Amino acid sequence: MNLRVEQPCPQCGGSVTLSVEDRLLTCPYCKVKNFLLANGGPFRYTLPNKAKEKNRLFHAPYLRFKGNVFSVTDSGVSHKVLDTTQDGCGLPGLPASLGLRPQAMPLTRVHIGSGGRFLPFSGQLREIFAKATKLHNLTEGRKDETVYHQAYIGETLSFIYLPLLPKEDCLFDAVLGEPLRGSSANTLKGEPFQPNWQPRFKAALCPRCGGNLDGEGDCLALICTSCDLVWQIGKEGLERTVGKVIPGGSQKPALHLPFWRIVAELPALRISSFADFAERTNQPFIIRPEWRSQEMRFWVPAFKLRPEIFLRTAKQITISQRQFGPERDMQLKKTVNPYPVTLPLSEARQSLKVILAASAASGRNIFSQLSGAEAEMQTAALVYLPFDDRQLDWMQSHTGTVIGKSVLHFGRKL
Ligand SMILES: [Zn+2]
Ligand SMILES: [Zn+2]
Repeated sequence: MNLRVEQPCPQCGGSVTLSVEDRLLTCPYCKVKNFLLANGGPFRYTLPNKAKEKNRLFHAPYLRFKGNVFSVTDSGVSHKVLDTTQDGCGLPGLPASLGLRPQAMPLTRVHIGSGGRFLPFSGQLREIFAKATKLHNLTEGRKDETVYHQAYIGETLSFIYLPLLPKEDCLFDAVLGEPLRGSSANTLKGEPFQPNWQPRFKAALCPRCGGNLDGEGDCLALICTSCDLVWQIGKEGLERTVGKVIPGGSQKPALHLPFWRIVAELPALRISSFADFAERTNQPFIIRPEWRSQEMRFWVPAFKLRPEIFLRTAKQITISQRQFGPERDMQLKKTVNPYPVTLPLSEARQSLKVILAASAASGRNIFSQLSGAEAEMQTAALVYLPFDDRQLDWMQSHTGTVIGKSVLHFGRKL
């Protein structure tokens, strides 16, 4: 579900409605583009309320998780799209989740005018994830199976606060106006709004030439067309990212999709070259001697896809990377139709062991070693791969990997 948030434009103050996934705000009034930086920690939102005495409110935190959960067990790799809110303070009487409410009304970013006090988040992220995963029956029917590895990918973590109003020693849900059974307002403390909960805004300008950077709301990397440089929205601002392109196959490609090309070693599994990877995963092709000295590169889609398509694409491109010719520096004028980056490198990194497990022709000998294996990342680059237009599908020019057009479109909405 795509949650909406009302966000005043930092330039002119005009009210803009964004998706909570959006990092680039283009103001429809003053046309200025700004990107949002989290000030450490997840973004914080609140459900709208009509309470008159805002300073008497208590805000109860719910953790919102949206992303894909992948689990490796003896039966292979299973996956689930998870989109949930979970109570994060354990106050008696609170609902376990916010249900459909965040979808039904636009959220407001927590700000100084939200008033009242914010109850502390007392849960453990891991436990909340485990509970949410169980609730969604990810492991149902396979209860006695060992989970060798679990990864949360493409995740959005945020806090959504439920405003509560104390009345006659009881707490009332300030959105619905209903009392919370068994609740008591007596011992509640909480802290006031903290200024560092607010995101910072930075003008979307190329740090090198000062030119305007363009992109759609959900993109995480911006391209400067004058400098031919790719800038990723990082923790502190725009970070330069190595942008490469692999020139097209036989015909003129119609689209370039971005992939995180991650060079990594897994010492516990004795994988440091492409030959090691092919051997450990029992690939049905003959290992060429030159692959012994070729570093292991994982190819991870840098855009959101449904979990099964994400995994299949990463696996197919990673296995068939031997068909690629040399990479070149990104030249925008020659890179037709570059698709926006919507999955950050930090998320892509977490998928390496899952891709390895999915690539294994016979998994048993690899799966059991996954929990003790760490993928040591060496370098990463954003590489645009050419895709040809095949009516209903996009087909990667060198490897034949296909991605349905509707799937790509749908991925933007995830
Ligand atoms: Zn504006
Ligand atoms: Zn520039």
